[in-house]
Parts: sequence; structure tokens; C-alpha cells
Amino acid sequence: MPKRELVCPRCGSTRADKIISGTPTFELREAGQRGEAFPGGSIVSDEAPVYGCLACHYQWGRHKGQSLIPLITAIKGFVGGFLGSSYSFEADITTGQGRYEALGYGYRPVSGESKTKEIMVTREQWDRLLRALEKCDFEYWVDCYEDPDVLDGTHWEVEVTLNTGETIVKHGSNKFPGRWQQFCKAVSTLVGDTFR
Ligand SMILES: [Zn+2]
Repeated sequence: MPKRELVCPRCGSTRADKIISGTPTFELREAGQRGEAFPGGSIVSDEAPVYGCLACHYQWGRHKGQSLIPLITAIKGFVGGFLGSSYSFEADITTGQGRYEALGYGYRPVSGESKTKEIMVTREQWDRLLRALEKCDFEYWVDCYEDPDVLDGTHWEVEVTLNTGETIVKHGSNKFPGRWQQFCKAVSTLVGDTFR
């Protein structure tokens, strides 16, 4: 399998690399190599890469088996702006159902065609979505992406619910996570419609 190019989830730079020193600390890594457990119960091993961005110095990556992605049971998202088209969706694997909506200028319904629909979410579709979330580094997105120099433009928000009841919210204006387009593509596939 070809090595996947690293893209910083925070700034989108491809000047990212595996961190050799830093976190986890050398002592942690050594203990991990000996297979010792840490307070908190996790085991650090060489299979646990932590990445760092050379452009913005953001660090991300979680030890194997500690990903939050498998815990996600529901997701909803929005992307768009007052002056253009907007898209929103929600999906819940516990009910197997979801909803999709596309709106036009001023967040008004697009005339002439129905752009609101109910969707069904199968286990297979859900698993595909979770794999996509993992691939686009969703759990390492920072909470807020904002370009302060742009007043209007495109806003977005993504909220997921975990099986613990917790919710995680990420949002932004005119600035996007490194693999945002991949995320949008996965949502489009899920809802069978435009999301960008
Ligand atoms: Zn970066």
C-alpha cells in the first residue's frame, strides 16, 4: 500500500511528518516497547504514530485503539452562506434515518424542485462514513477554523454525537480543515446529493 500523504488537519500543509521525539516522551515510548500499561490504561507502542506539522506546529494522532470515531452514533452538518447555496444533513445510525436539505440565496428553499428529503442510513453506509471520517482526520480537526479577513462567505459546522452521549462540534468560516473536500465527498455519498 502506498504511503498516504500527511495533510495537517489544522492548516492543510503537507509539510507534516511523524514525530520522533516530543509526545509521547522517550520514557513513555520505552515503556510502551516493553508493553507496559500507563496510568489511564493505555499502552504506547511503536504502532502509535504522533504527527506534527512543520508549517504550523500542530500535533495530532492518537494511539492505536483509542480513536473516537467508532463511538460516533450520529452526525449533522451544514455548509454554505447567505449569498450562495447552503446544504445541511443529519444522520443517525441508532434510528437508521437522516435528513438532507439544500437551500438557495438567503437560506431560502430552492424554487422549482424539492430539495428536502429523508434518507435511510444502512450499517454499511455508516461504516463507510466512519472510515471516511477517520481518513480525513476528523477527530484531529481543531474546534474552530476562521479567516478574520473575510466578513461573509462560507460557514460550516459539523457536530457528532458519541455513544457516551457527548457531542463534539467543529465549525469555521472561510477556512477549512486539511481534508475538508474529502469530508464533503463522503457526506455527498451518504446523502446521495450535493454537499460542498
Ligand atoms: Zn499545520
